[in-house]
Amino acid sequence: MPELPEVEVIKNIIKPSLKGKIINYSIIRTKKLKYIISDNIIKINNQKILDVKRRGRYIIIILLKNTIIIHLGMTGILSILSHKNMYLYTKHDHIDLIIDNHLILRYTDIRKFGFWLWEIKNYKKNIFLKKLGPEPLNNNFNSLYLYKYTQKKNIAIKILLMDNKVVTGIGNIYANESLFLSKILPIRISSTLNLQEIQTLVKNIKYILYKSIKYGGSTINNYRLPNNNIGNFSKYFLVYAKKNQLCQICKEKIIRIFQRNRSTFFCSKCQK
Ligand SMILES: [Zn+2]
Repeated sequence: MPELPEVEVIKNIIKPSLKGKIINYSIIRTKKLKYIISDNIIKINNQKILDVKRRGRYIIIILLKNTIIIHLGMTGILSILSHKNMYLYTKHDHIDLIIDNHLILRYTDIRKFGFWLWEIKNYKKNIFLKKLGPEPLNNNFNSLYLYKYTQKKNIAIKILLMDNKVVTGIGNIYANESLFLSKILPIRISSTLNLQEIQTLVKNIKYILYKSIKYGGSTINNYRLPNNNIGNFSKYFLVYAKKNQLCQICKEKIIRIFQRNRSTFFCSKCQK
């Protein structure tokens, strides 16, 4: 599943081809992804794209009066293609937005867990977006904010970091990696962390997300970037998907457990 850094990289790649351009019309080959695609997207006609933004794991295409909110689900891919690809498609290419600069924004999704929503321009009130906590790279996600949350919760710190109401879009890979860098066991009860540990953790979350964005995100499973490149950040994983490999710091074997059905990787010697 694409997480925050991957969605940020995708947004940065597609934005220059879309901002200020006109969507002439759409070609919808599949009417139902996770949710049914709105008639407003099906019938879209000569609408100017004012901007392309990201909030959490959502890509937001801002039009004059409305927005299109895109979630990539498990296997969603956005590509920028030339008009000549309009008639060249596979059964997984569900949506094309035909842009007036001879380009297409194409949505491909093998498992169809992604979705496209039509929303009013004030997209922050959208049913999914209004529930999201602060962006981890913004200043309102800071150690005092996270400390307050950790103190009142008696759940494992990794579970807390992956709660989008606490902080949006960290996801499994980056929760594992930032806890390792911070020498904190993912199963530690959040209220046992002191302020200094939280300061280290917040610093490392921001560091690891910026680093991943810099390297194009982590390419795992079906994920690829709109320009067909792949992200290289997986080369820099320290614990994620490293079960039984040796910890780069102490040479102890990396352990894998499951927390709420998601894989957790850690070093039992380095992390306390
Ligand atoms: Zn270690």
